[in-house]
Amino acid sequence: MTRETKSWQDIPIAGVCWKPATEYHTGDWRTFKPVYASEKCKKCLLCSMICPDAAIKWNETKEVVEFNYDFCKGCGICANECPGRAIQMIRESGE
Ligand code: SF4
Ligand code: SF4
Repeated sequence: MTRETKSWQDIPIAGVCWKPATEYHTGDWRTFKPVYASEKCKKCLLCSMICPDAAIKWNETKEVVEFNYDFCKGCGICANECPGRAIQMIRESGE
């Protein structure tokens, strides 16, 4: 018997998610997305430590911060806390 896969929209208020976070691509919750200006980055990796979705990784080869937009919800914490103001939140529509 196959069970119908539910989306996050089907979770009732105060409900408990029935799948691990790694299987839920929550990026489509986003209204604003973070964009990165490498020239302003101080390479402190504070953003990576504080992202509640673990959606920020340091690319050692390129020496830049990279976002995993499959999981970034657009909360803006990284942009608010970045000491170099290297992250800005823009509307998904690009406005
Ligand atoms: S918090 Fe800002 S300055 Fe620090 S690594 Fe992230 S983007 Fe760069
Ligand atoms: S906007 Fe929020 S979820 Fe997205 S990368 Fe920044 S801290 Fe993480």
